[in-house]
Amino acid sequence: MLADSHCHLNYKGLVERRDEVLAHARARGVTAMLNIATRESEWDDVVATAEQEPDVWATVGIHPHEADKHPDVDTAKLVGRAAHPRVVGIGESGLDYYYDHSDRDRQKASFRSHIAAARETGLPIVVHTRDAEDDTAAILREEMGKGPYPGVIHCFTASDAFADIALDLGFYISISGIVTFKNARELQATAARLPIERLLIETDAPFLAPVPHRGKPGEPAFVADTAAYLANLRGEPLDELCSRTAENFHALFAKTRA
Ligand SMILES: [Zn+2]
Ligand SMILES: [Zn+2]
Repeated sequence: MLADSHCHLNYKGLVERRDEVLAHARARGVTAMLNIATRESEWDDVVATAEQEPDVWATVGIHPHEADKHPDVDTAKLVGRAAHPRVVGIGESGLDYYYDHSDRDRQKASFRSHIAAARETGLPIVVHTRDAEDDTAAILREEMGKGPYPGVIHCFTASDAFADIALDLGFYISISGIVTFKNARELQATAARLPIERLLIETDAPFLAPVPHRGKPGEPAFVADTAAYLANLRGEPLDELCSRTAENFHALFAKTRA
């Protein structure tokens, strides 16, 4: 068992050769993939892929980069699309102040409407946060005060202190191939000490191919390389790390067990 908790199978670089990409993943033991939406125009495609492939599920949401372009995507719209049996999460949503492709207030408003959808549906929110950890923590905390909701911090690259805040809020933390990069010392230290019961692994494919695939388009098969790196880093048997993180995936995205 091995789960890729975050990939973009409908992005260029993967969509043209989807059968091959899925075959690679299955050959390396990947048993579950979560295909993440970033804009409304993708929702039909990610849902269709999840309908066709028994080991692929979908999310619906608007990436913070796209918040400006989707003023009409509100909680009701997200909740409506999330009723589909193969839609198992909300997102990705959050705050990205590194690129600042959308107005920050729009990012915050969109983030809150996604959290409200997660609370209403009980489906986890997939959180993207980059160079915005103070505002992300403040919003996650404040919204948690209005009523609980589950979630994951995807492609975790924030501080060690932010990891503790996320864990305190009951969140899972998903580690990408970035952890295999030589200069990712702080992330490696955090990844080494995260409790196994809150750990997920992802590729964020077609981005962020891990060592030894750097320079190539990422694909879900490479989650096996990140898993091997993490098992070594954490001093855990590889098969145990794979099965525990896959169990975590199905526990968090509980609709995948239906
Ligand atoms: Zn992201
Ligand atoms: Zn992503």
